[in-house]
Amino acid sequence: MMLGQIAIAALSVHSVAKSFGGARVVKDVSLAIKPGEFISLLGPSGCGKTTLLRMIAGLEQPDSGTIALGDKDITSVPVWERNIGVVFQNYALFPHMTVAENIAFGLRTRKTPRSAIEAKVRGALKLVRLDDFGPRSTEKLSGGQKQRVALARALVTDPRLLLLDEPLGALDRKLREQMQVELKMLQREIGITTLMVTHDQEEALTLSDRIAVMSDGRILQDDSPREIYERPRDAFVADFIGMSNLMKGRVADLDGNKQLQVSENVILKLPPNAMAATEISVFLRPEKLTLTELPGAAGSSLPGRIVHVSYSGSVTHCFVDVGLQKPLTVLITNRSNHDDAGPRIGDPIWVHWDARNIVML
Ligand code: ATP
Repeated sequence: MMLGQIAIAALSVHSVAKSFGGARVVKDVSLAIKPGEFISLLGPSGCGKTTLLRMIAGLEQPDSGTIALGDKDITSVPVWERNIGVVFQNYALFPHMTVAENIAFGLRTRKTPRSAIEAKVRGALKLVRLDDFGPRSTEKLSGGQKQRVALARALVTDPRLLLLDEPLGALDRKLREQMQVELKMLQREIGITTLMVTHDQEEALTLSDRIAVMSDGRILQDDSPREIYERPRDAFVADFIGMSNLMKGRVADLDGNKQLQVSENVILKLPPNAMAATEISVFLRPEKLTLTELPGAAGSSLPGRIVHVSYSGSVTHCFVDVGLQKPLTVLITNRSNHDDAGPRIGDPIWVHWDARNIVML
C-alpha cells in the first residue's frame, strides 16, 4: 500500500505530559483515534483523564508533546479555532438563553448568516429528538433534556471531534442507560470521531470501539472492550474492569501439566502456555465459575462454603470461602424457578471452572 493511502488518524496525541504545581498528572501519553471511532478514557478519580481531555479541547496547554487533528498540529491553536465539540457532565448551558439560543451560540460567534443558523439549529434539535423545544427556557428541562441540548450545541458547528466529559454522570441509572443507547446510535449515525471520559466501566464497555484504561497519569491498556475485559494486561486493569478473582502463586510443571500452587491446599490447573517456575497472578471472572453440590476434578474445582449472597434481580453473586485470603466470587444467573430459594449462607458447595478461562497476567 502506498503511504498516501494510509488513513490519517482523526486525532493523534503524542507523548503529552502535564504537571500542576510540580505534580505530574499526565505522563507521556500517546493515543491515536481513527475517523469515526468512539474511544473511552476510563480510570479512577484523579488519574488524569479530564486533564488529557482538556488539553485536547485546548482548555489546558501541555508541558510537552503534540496534539494533531488529522494532519494539522493543533498543540498551540486556541480553543475557539480547533472546531472540537465538548459536552460536560454539568451541561454548562447558558441559563438565561432559550434552548435554541444556547444551540445557536457557537454559530453566532462564528458569524454564521442568520438563515443558516435557523436551519442548523432546527437540524440539531431534530438530531437529539427535541424538535419543538427551541423556544423553551433551559432552566425547566429535565437532566436528560439538558444533556441533549448540550449535545446539540456541541454538534451544531459540525466539529471534527466530539469530546464528552462524564456526559451521563449526572443522570439517574435508568435514564443513563437510555441515553447511552441514544448517544451510541447518534454517534454511529453521524459518524463523528468521539472521545469520552468516564469512570463508569459499564458505560465504557457499552459505548466504545476502544477503551484506554488510565491509572496515575498513564494509559495502561488501549484495546477493544472485549480484549480489555477478557484479556486485561495487568492486575490493575483486571480489577478495575468488572469483578475478578485474583490469585497469586508459583507455576509448577508436573510431566508437562502446568499447575499453580496458590496455597497449601489450593492448586489450579493452568493452560499449557504457563511458564514453569515463575511467580504469576491469575484471575477468573465470576461468570466463568459454576457451583454444584457434587465434587469436581482436582485442579479445576474447589470445595468451599458460601459466606455471603448478594441478590440483584437477574443475577446473584455468591461469595465462597475456599480457604484463600479472600472468598471467590461466583456469578449465577437467576434462571431457576421463582420458588427456588437459591444459594444460602452456610451451604457447603463446590466451585468449578474450565482451566481455559484462567487469565494469566
Ligand atoms: P475525576 O474523575 O475525579 O475528574 P480525573 O481522572 O479526570 O478525575 P483530573 O481531573 O485530570 O483527574 O485530575 C488529575 C489530578 O490533577 C488531580 O489530582 C487534580 O486534583 C489535579 N488537577 C487537575 N486540574 C488541576 C488544576 N487546574 N490545578 C491544580 N491541580 C489540578
